Amino acid sequence: MSEKGFFGEFGGSFLPDDLAKVLAILDEQFETYRKDPDFVEEFSYYLKEFVGRENPLTYAKNLTEQVGGAKIYLKREDLNHTGAHKINNAIGQILLAKRMGATRIIAETGAGQHGVATATACSIFGMECTIYMGKLDTERQALNVFRMELLGAKVVPVDSGQGRLKDAVDAALADLVENYETTFYLLGSAVGPHPFPTMVKYFQSVISEESKRQILEKEGKLPTAVVAVAGGGSNAIGAFAHYIDEESVRLIGVEPAEAPTLTEGVPAVIHGFKCLTLLDEQGQPKPTFSIAAGLDYPGIGPEHSYLKTSGRAEYVTVTGDEALEWFQQLSKVEGIIPALESAHAVAHAVKLAKELSKEDVIIVNLSGRGDKDVQQVYNMLHK
Ligand SMILES: *Cc1c(COP(=O)(O)O)cnc(C)c1O
Repeated sequence: MSEKGFFGEFGGSFLPDDLAKVLAILDEQFETYRKDPDFVEEFSYYLKEFVGRENPLTYAKNLTEQVGGAKIYLKREDLNHTGAHKINNAIGQILLAKRMGATRIIAETGAGQHGVATATACSIFGMECTIYMGKLDTERQALNVFRMELLGAKVVPVDSGQGRLKDAVDAALADLVENYETTFYLLGSAVGPHPFPTMVKYFQSVISEESKRQILEKEGKLPTAVVAVAGGGSNAIGAFAHYIDEESVRLIGVEPAEAPTLTEGVPAVIHGFKCLTLLDEQGQPKPTFSIAAGLDYPGIGPEHSYLKTSGRAEYVTVTGDEALEWFQQLSKVEGIIPALESAHAVAHAVKLAKELSKEDVIIVNLSGRGDKDVQQVYNMLHK
Protein backbone atom coordinates (compact mmCIF):
# COMPACT_ATOMS: atom_id res chain seq x y z
CA MET A 1 0.00 0.00 0.00
CA SER A 2 1.24 3.47 -0.83
CA GLU A 3 0.27 6.69 0.86
CA LYS A 4 -3.26 7.56 2.06
CA GLY A 5 -4.71 4.16 1.36
CA PHE A 6 -3.97 3.79 -2.34
CA PHE A 7 -3.45 0.34 -3.82
CA GLY A 8 -1.98 1.26 -7.20
CA GLU A 9 -4.59 3.60 -8.69
CA PHE A 10 -7.37 2.23 -6.46
CA GLY A 11 -8.67 3.21 -3.03
CA GLY A 12 -8.03 6.66 -1.60
CA SER A 13 -10.64 8.94 -0.14
CA PHE A 14 -12.90 11.15 -2.26
CA LEU A 15 -15.06 12.96 0.26
CA PRO A 16 -16.49 16.33 1.23
CA ASP A 17 -14.32 18.21 3.78
CA ASP A 18 -16.47 17.51 6.84
CA LEU A 19 -16.31 13.75 6.33
CA ALA A 20 -12.66 13.79 5.31
CA LYS A 21 -11.86 15.43 8.64
CA VAL A 22 -13.66 12.70 10.61
CA LEU A 23 -11.93 9.89 8.70
CA ALA A 24 -8.51 11.51 9.12
CA ILE A 25 -8.99 11.25 12.90
CA LEU A 26 -10.06 7.62 12.53
CA ASP A 27 -6.99 6.87 10.41
CA GLU A 28 -4.65 8.38 12.98
CA GLN A 29 -6.30 6.52 15.89
CA PHE A 30 -6.29 3.20 14.06
CA GLU A 31 -2.58 3.56 13.25
CA THR A 32 -1.90 4.27 16.93
CA TYR A 33 -3.89 1.40 18.39
CA ARG A 34 -2.84 -1.29 15.93
CA LYS A 35 0.68 -0.84 17.37
CA ASP A 36 -0.56 -0.90 20.97
CA PRO A 37 0.06 -4.35 22.55
CA ASP A 38 -2.87 -3.86 24.99
CA PHE A 39 -5.24 -3.28 22.11
CA VAL A 40 -3.94 -6.26 20.14
CA GLU A 41 -4.24 -8.46 23.22
CA GLU A 42 -7.79 -7.32 23.96
CA PHE A 43 -8.80 -8.10 20.37
CA SER A 44 -7.30 -11.62 20.67
CA TYR A 45 -9.08 -12.14 23.97
CA TYR A 46 -12.54 -11.46 22.51
CA LEU A 47 -11.82 -13.46 19.35
CA LYS A 48 -11.08 -16.43 21.57
CA GLU A 49 -13.64 -16.03 24.34
CA PHE A 50 -16.59 -14.56 22.46
CA VAL A 51 -16.18 -15.45 18.78
CA GLY A 52 -14.79 -18.92 19.56
CA ARG A 53 -11.49 -18.74 17.66
CA GLU A 54 -9.36 -20.28 16.55
CA ASN A 55 -11.75 -22.17 14.34
CA PRO A 56 -10.63 -25.39 12.59
CA LEU A 57 -9.15 -25.94 9.16
CA THR A 58 -11.13 -29.07 8.34
CA TYR A 59 -9.95 -31.62 5.77
CA ALA A 60 -12.98 -32.29 3.54
CA LYS A 61 -12.18 -35.96 3.03
CA ASN A 62 -15.46 -37.06 1.46
CA LEU A 63 -15.57 -34.12 -0.92
CA THR A 64 -11.93 -34.67 -1.90
CA GLU A 65 -12.55 -38.35 -2.62
CA GLN A 66 -15.71 -37.58 -4.58
CA VAL A 67 -13.95 -35.00 -6.75
CA GLY A 68 -10.73 -36.99 -7.17
CA GLY A 69 -8.02 -34.33 -7.38
CA ALA A 70 -6.38 -31.86 -5.02
CA LYS A 71 -6.98 -32.12 -1.27
CA ILE A 72 -9.65 -29.66 -0.17
CA TYR A 73 -9.52 -28.00 3.26
CA LEU A 74 -12.27 -25.76 4.65
CA LYS A 75 -11.44 -22.77 6.85
CA ARG A 76 -14.41 -22.80 9.20
CA GLU A 77 -15.58 -19.20 9.59
CA ASP A 78 -19.07 -20.76 9.68
CA LEU A 79 -18.31 -21.90 13.23
CA ASN A 80 -17.81 -18.37 14.57
CA HIS A 81 -20.41 -16.95 16.95
CA THR A 82 -23.20 -15.45 14.77
CA GLY A 83 -22.19 -17.78 11.94
CA ALA A 84 -19.80 -15.90 9.69
CA HIS A 85 -16.57 -13.91 9.41
CA LYS A 86 -18.31 -10.53 9.85
CA ILE A 87 -18.05 -10.70 13.65
CA ASN A 88 -14.20 -10.54 13.51
CA ASN A 89 -14.39 -7.07 12.02
CA ALA A 90 -17.29 -5.91 14.19
CA ILE A 91 -15.38 -6.78 17.38
CA GLY A 92 -12.19 -5.12 16.14
CA GLN A 93 -13.88 -1.87 15.17
CA ILE A 94 -15.90 -1.66 18.40
CA LEU A 95 -12.76 -2.07 20.49
CA LEU A 96 -11.24 0.78 18.52
CA ALA A 97 -14.40 2.87 18.97
CA LYS A 98 -14.22 2.32 22.74
CA ARG A 99 -10.59 3.44 22.88
CA MET A 100 -11.53 6.51 20.86
CA GLY A 101 -14.15 7.39 23.46
CA ALA A 102 -17.23 6.76 21.32
CA THR A 103 -20.42 5.75 23.14
CA ARG A 104 -22.57 5.14 20.11
CA ILE A 105 -22.17 2.88 17.07
CA ILE A 106 -23.91 3.30 13.74
CA ALA A 107 -23.85 0.97 10.77
CA GLU A 108 -25.62 0.29 7.51
CA THR A 109 -26.92 -3.09 6.47
CA GLY A 110 -28.48 -4.54 3.32
CA ALA A 111 -29.69 -8.06 4.01
CA GLY A 112 -29.07 -7.63 7.73
CA GLN A 113 -25.99 -9.81 8.32
CA HIS A 114 -23.64 -6.93 9.09
CA GLY A 115 -26.36 -5.31 11.19
CA VAL A 116 -26.69 -8.46 13.29
CA ALA A 117 -22.89 -8.77 13.77
CA THR A 118 -22.72 -5.09 14.79
CA ALA A 119 -25.69 -5.32 17.17
CA THR A 120 -24.12 -8.41 18.76
CA ALA A 121 -20.81 -6.66 19.36
CA CYS A 122 -22.57 -3.54 20.69
CA SER A 123 -24.46 -5.68 23.15
CA ILE A 124 -21.37 -7.12 24.85
CA PHE A 125 -19.58 -3.77 24.96
CA GLY A 126 -22.63 -1.87 26.20
CA MET A 127 -22.67 0.51 23.25
CA GLU A 128 -25.76 2.28 21.99
CA CYS A 129 -26.43 0.92 18.48
CA THR A 130 -28.31 2.39 15.53
CA ILE A 131 -28.58 0.40 12.30
CA TYR A 132 -29.70 2.11 9.09
CA MET A 133 -31.49 -0.14 6.67
CA GLY A 134 -33.35 0.59 3.43
CA LYS A 135 -37.10 0.49 4.05
CA LEU A 136 -37.56 -2.11 1.33
CA ASP A 137 -34.86 -4.26 2.95
CA THR A 138 -36.48 -4.00 6.40
CA GLU A 139 -39.66 -5.43 4.88
CA ARG A 140 -37.87 -8.28 3.09
CA GLN A 141 -35.67 -9.08 6.10
CA ALA A 142 -38.18 -8.72 8.92
CA LEU A 143 -36.61 -11.56 10.93
CA ASN A 144 -33.16 -9.94 10.87
CA VAL A 145 -34.71 -6.66 12.00
CA PHE A 146 -36.22 -8.52 14.95
CA ARG A 147 -32.85 -10.17 15.68
CA MET A 148 -31.13 -6.79 15.84
CA GLU A 149 -33.88 -5.47 18.11
CA LEU A 150 -33.53 -8.47 20.42
CA LEU A 151 -29.84 -7.63 20.67
CA GLY A 152 -30.78 -4.13 21.78
CA ALA A 153 -30.22 -2.18 18.57
CA LYS A 154 -32.45 0.48 17.09
CA VAL A 155 -33.20 -0.18 13.41
CA VAL A 156 -33.99 2.91 11.34
CA PRO A 157 -35.79 2.22 8.04
CA VAL A 158 -34.57 4.64 5.36
CA ASP A 159 -37.35 5.79 3.08
CA SER A 160 -35.41 8.13 0.77
CA GLY A 161 -34.16 7.17 -2.70
CA GLN A 162 -34.99 3.58 -3.58
CA GLY A 163 -35.05 2.48 0.05
CA ARG A 164 -32.02 0.22 -0.50
CA LEU A 165 -28.49 -0.20 0.84
CA LYS A 166 -27.08 2.89 -0.87
CA ASP A 167 -29.70 5.09 0.79
CA ALA A 168 -28.92 3.51 4.15
CA VAL A 169 -25.20 4.34 3.64
CA ASP A 170 -26.10 7.98 2.88
CA ALA A 171 -28.22 8.22 6.03
CA ALA A 172 -25.44 6.70 8.16
CA LEU A 173 -22.85 9.12 6.74
CA ALA A 174 -25.11 12.11 7.46
CA ASP A 175 -25.48 10.86 11.05
CA LEU A 176 -21.70 10.50 11.37
CA VAL A 177 -20.98 14.03 10.18
CA GLU A 178 -23.46 15.41 12.69
CA ASN A 179 -22.44 13.26 15.68
CA TYR A 180 -18.81 12.30 15.11
CA GLU A 181 -17.72 13.35 18.60
CA THR A 182 -19.71 10.52 20.21
CA THR A 183 -20.36 8.23 17.27
CA PHE A 184 -18.34 5.60 15.39
CA TYR A 185 -19.36 4.35 11.95
CA LEU A 186 -18.76 0.60 11.79
CA LEU A 187 -18.33 -0.35 8.12
CA GLY A 188 -18.98 -3.97 7.20
CA SER A 189 -16.64 -4.84 4.32
CA ALA A 190 -13.22 -4.02 2.87
CA VAL A 191 -14.71 -1.14 0.90
CA GLY A 192 -15.25 2.59 1.39
CA PRO A 193 -12.79 5.44 1.77
CA HIS A 194 -9.45 5.12 3.57
CA PRO A 195 -8.85 3.90 6.28
CA PHE A 196 -11.75 1.38 6.12
CA PRO A 197 -10.29 -1.10 3.58
CA THR A 198 -6.98 -1.22 5.47
CA MET A 199 -8.68 -1.48 8.86
CA VAL A 200 -11.13 -4.22 7.82
CA LYS A 201 -8.26 -6.19 6.27
CA TYR A 202 -6.31 -5.89 9.51
CA PHE A 203 -9.18 -7.31 11.59
CA GLN A 204 -10.02 -10.08 9.07
CA SER A 205 -6.38 -11.14 8.59
CA VAL A 206 -6.76 -13.44 11.57
CA ILE A 207 -8.32 -15.89 9.07
CA SER A 208 -5.10 -16.41 7.09
CA GLU A 209 -2.88 -16.01 10.14
CA GLU A 210 -4.59 -19.12 11.52
CA SER A 211 -4.95 -21.05 8.26
CA LYS A 212 -1.27 -20.65 7.41
CA ARG A 213 -0.19 -22.03 10.76
CA GLN A 214 -2.78 -24.81 10.49
CA ILE A 215 -1.88 -25.93 6.97
CA LEU A 216 1.84 -26.00 7.82
CA GLU A 217 1.01 -28.21 10.78
CA LYS A 218 -1.22 -30.56 8.79
CA GLU A 219 0.56 -30.72 5.43
CA GLY A 220 4.03 -29.37 6.15
CA LYS A 221 3.75 -27.01 3.19
CA LEU A 222 1.85 -24.00 1.91
CA PRO A 223 -1.34 -24.54 -0.10
CA THR A 224 -1.37 -24.53 -3.89
CA ALA A 225 -4.34 -22.15 -3.84
CA VAL A 226 -6.61 -20.21 -1.49
CA VAL A 227 -10.17 -19.75 -2.74
CA ALA A 228 -12.65 -17.25 -1.28
CA VAL A 229 -15.85 -15.57 -2.39
CA ALA A 230 -15.74 -11.79 -2.91
CA GLY A 231 -18.75 -9.55 -2.31
CA GLY A 232 -17.21 -6.37 -0.95
CA GLY A 233 -14.10 -8.44 -0.39
CA SER A 234 -13.58 -8.67 3.39
CA ASN A 235 -13.48 -12.44 3.93
CA ALA A 236 -11.38 -12.85 0.78
CA ILE A 237 -8.80 -10.23 1.76
CA GLY A 238 -8.61 -11.75 5.24
CA ALA A 239 -8.18 -15.23 3.75
CA PHE A 240 -5.46 -13.97 1.34
CA ALA A 241 -3.56 -11.53 3.59
CA HIS A 242 -0.79 -13.76 4.96
CA TYR A 243 -0.23 -15.41 1.57
CA ILE A 244 0.09 -12.28 -0.58
CA ASP A 245 3.89 -12.33 -0.21
CA GLU A 246 4.06 -16.09 -0.83
CA GLU A 247 4.39 -16.05 -4.61
CA SER A 248 3.84 -19.81 -4.93
CA VAL A 249 0.32 -19.63 -3.51
CA ARG A 250 -2.45 -18.92 -6.04
CA LEU A 251 -5.06 -16.49 -4.70
CA ILE A 252 -8.47 -16.96 -6.29
CA GLY A 253 -11.46 -14.71 -5.67
CA VAL A 254 -14.88 -15.96 -6.73
CA GLU A 255 -17.58 -13.56 -7.85
CA PRO A 256 -21.23 -14.23 -8.61
CA ALA A 257 -21.71 -14.36 -12.40
CA GLU A 258 -24.69 -12.04 -11.79
CA ALA A 259 -22.44 -9.29 -10.30
CA PRO A 260 -18.97 -9.81 -11.87
CA THR A 261 -17.36 -6.62 -10.58
CA LEU A 262 -13.71 -7.59 -11.05
CA THR A 263 -14.24 -9.57 -14.22
CA GLU A 264 -16.22 -6.90 -16.05
CA GLY A 265 -15.93 -3.70 -14.01
CA VAL A 266 -14.15 -0.48 -14.97
CA PRO A 267 -12.23 1.91 -12.70
CA ALA A 268 -14.58 4.46 -11.13
CA VAL A 269 -15.14 6.36 -7.91
CA ILE A 270 -18.18 5.13 -5.92
CA HIS A 271 -19.06 5.72 -2.27
CA GLY A 272 -15.90 7.81 -1.74
CA PHE A 273 -13.20 5.46 -3.12
CA LYS A 274 -11.90 4.19 -6.44
CA CYS A 275 -12.35 0.56 -7.47
CA LEU A 276 -13.42 -1.63 -10.34
CA THR A 277 -17.16 -1.11 -10.62
CA LEU A 278 -20.10 -2.21 -12.70
CA LEU A 279 -21.65 0.88 -14.28
CA ASP A 280 -24.85 1.29 -16.29
CA GLU A 281 -25.09 3.36 -19.53
CA GLN A 282 -25.49 6.56 -17.50
CA GLY A 283 -22.28 5.83 -15.63
CA GLN A 284 -24.12 5.04 -12.38
CA PRO A 285 -23.40 1.98 -10.18
CA LYS A 286 -25.42 -0.83 -11.73
CA PRO A 287 -28.08 -2.63 -9.67
CA THR A 288 -26.98 -6.25 -9.23
CA PHE A 289 -28.77 -9.42 -8.32
CA SER A 290 -27.16 -12.45 -6.71
CA ILE A 291 -29.02 -15.29 -4.97
CA ALA A 292 -26.62 -14.59 -2.10
CA ALA A 293 -27.65 -11.29 -0.51
CA GLY A 294 -24.13 -10.70 0.84
CA LEU A 295 -22.74 -10.55 -2.70
CA ASP A 296 -25.06 -7.87 -4.03
CA TYR A 297 -22.73 -4.90 -4.34
CA PRO A 298 -21.70 -3.15 -7.60
CA GLY A 299 -18.17 -2.34 -6.35
CA ILE A 300 -15.34 -4.25 -4.69
CA GLY A 301 -12.57 -3.43 -2.25
CA PRO A 302 -9.71 -1.38 -3.70
CA GLU A 303 -7.04 -3.93 -2.78
CA HIS A 304 -8.84 -6.63 -4.80
CA SER A 305 -9.03 -4.20 -7.72
CA TYR A 306 -5.26 -3.85 -7.44
CA LEU A 307 -4.57 -7.58 -6.93
CA LYS A 308 -6.59 -8.20 -10.10
CA THR A 309 -4.96 -5.56 -12.32
CA SER A 310 -1.46 -6.37 -11.02
CA GLY A 311 -2.06 -10.05 -11.70
CA ARG A 312 -1.25 -11.25 -8.16
CA ALA A 313 -4.73 -12.73 -7.70
CA GLU A 314 -7.13 -14.37 -10.13
CA TYR A 315 -10.86 -13.72 -10.15
CA VAL A 316 -13.44 -16.08 -11.60
CA THR A 317 -17.23 -16.25 -11.71
CA VAL A 318 -19.69 -18.88 -10.52
CA THR A 319 -23.42 -18.82 -11.31
CA GLY A 320 -26.24 -18.87 -8.77
CA ASP A 321 -27.24 -22.31 -10.04
CA GLU A 322 -23.75 -23.71 -9.43
CA ALA A 323 -23.75 -22.23 -5.93
CA LEU A 324 -27.15 -23.78 -5.26
CA GLU A 325 -25.83 -27.17 -6.41
CA TRP A 326 -22.81 -27.04 -4.06
CA PHE A 327 -24.92 -25.67 -1.21
CA GLN A 328 -26.71 -29.03 -1.38
CA GLN A 329 -23.69 -31.22 -2.17
CA LEU A 330 -21.53 -29.94 0.68
CA SER A 331 -24.43 -30.41 3.10
CA LYS A 332 -24.91 -33.97 1.91
CA VAL A 333 -21.31 -35.22 1.85
CA GLU A 334 -19.60 -33.18 4.59
CA GLY A 335 -22.45 -32.44 7.02
CA ILE A 336 -21.85 -28.71 6.65
CA ILE A 337 -24.59 -26.43 5.30
CA PRO A 338 -22.65 -23.48 3.84
CA ALA A 339 -23.92 -19.93 3.36
CA LEU A 340 -25.00 -19.36 -0.24
CA GLU A 341 -22.13 -16.86 -0.50
CA SER A 342 -19.59 -19.48 0.60
CA ALA A 343 -21.14 -22.09 -1.72
CA HIS A 344 -19.80 -19.99 -4.62
CA ALA A 345 -16.26 -20.57 -3.35
CA VAL A 346 -16.90 -24.30 -2.89
CA ALA A 347 -18.24 -24.57 -6.46
CA HIS A 348 -15.05 -23.11 -7.88
CA ALA A 349 -12.74 -25.06 -5.58
CA VAL A 350 -14.26 -28.28 -6.86
CA LYS A 351 -13.60 -27.30 -10.51
CA LEU A 352 -10.04 -26.37 -9.60
CA ALA A 353 -9.42 -29.55 -7.58
CA LYS A 354 -10.24 -31.65 -10.67
CA GLU A 355 -7.57 -29.83 -12.71
CA LEU A 356 -4.90 -30.27 -10.04
CA SER A 357 -3.10 -33.39 -8.78
CA LYS A 358 -3.45 -35.31 -5.52
CA GLU A 359 -0.25 -33.62 -4.30
CA ASP A 360 -1.96 -30.23 -4.42
CA VAL A 361 -3.80 -28.59 -1.53
CA ILE A 362 -6.64 -26.07 -1.76
CA ILE A 363 -7.94 -24.00 1.15
CA VAL A 364 -11.52 -22.81 0.72
CA ASN A 365 -12.64 -20.04 3.02
CA LEU A 366 -16.06 -21.13 4.25
CA SER A 367 -17.15 -17.59 5.10
CA GLY A 368 -20.41 -18.51 6.81
CA ARG A 369 -23.03 -21.10 7.65
CA GLY A 370 -26.19 -21.60 5.67
CA ASP A 371 -28.89 -21.63 8.35
CA LYS A 372 -29.93 -18.15 7.23
CA ASP A 373 -30.45 -19.45 3.67
CA VAL A 374 -32.38 -22.65 4.29
CA GLN A 375 -35.84 -21.06 3.89
CA GLN A 376 -34.80 -19.29 0.69
CA VAL A 377 -33.32 -22.46 -0.81
CA TYR A 378 -36.45 -24.39 0.17
CA ASN A 379 -38.56 -21.83 -1.67
CA MET A 380 -36.29 -21.96 -4.73
CA LEU A 381 -36.33 -25.75 -4.91
CA HIS A 382 -40.08 -26.09 -4.34
CA LYS A 383 -41.50 -23.40 -6.56
C1 LIG B 1 -21.39 -10.72 3.96
C2 LIG B 1 -20.94 -12.06 3.55
C3 LIG B 1 -20.07 -12.26 2.44
C4 LIG B 1 -19.63 -11.16 1.54
O1 LIG B 1 -18.92 -10.12 2.14
P1 LIG B 1 -17.34 -9.94 1.97
O2 LIG B 1 -17.08 -8.60 2.53
O3 LIG B 1 -17.04 -10.04 0.51
O4 LIG B 1 -16.70 -11.03 2.73
C5 LIG B 1 -19.63 -13.55 2.16
N1 LIG B 1 -20.04 -14.60 2.91
C6 LIG B 1 -20.87 -14.45 3.97
C7 LIG B 1 -21.26 -15.65 4.73
C8 LIG B 1 -21.34 -13.18 4.31
O5 LIG B 1 -22.17 -13.05 5.37
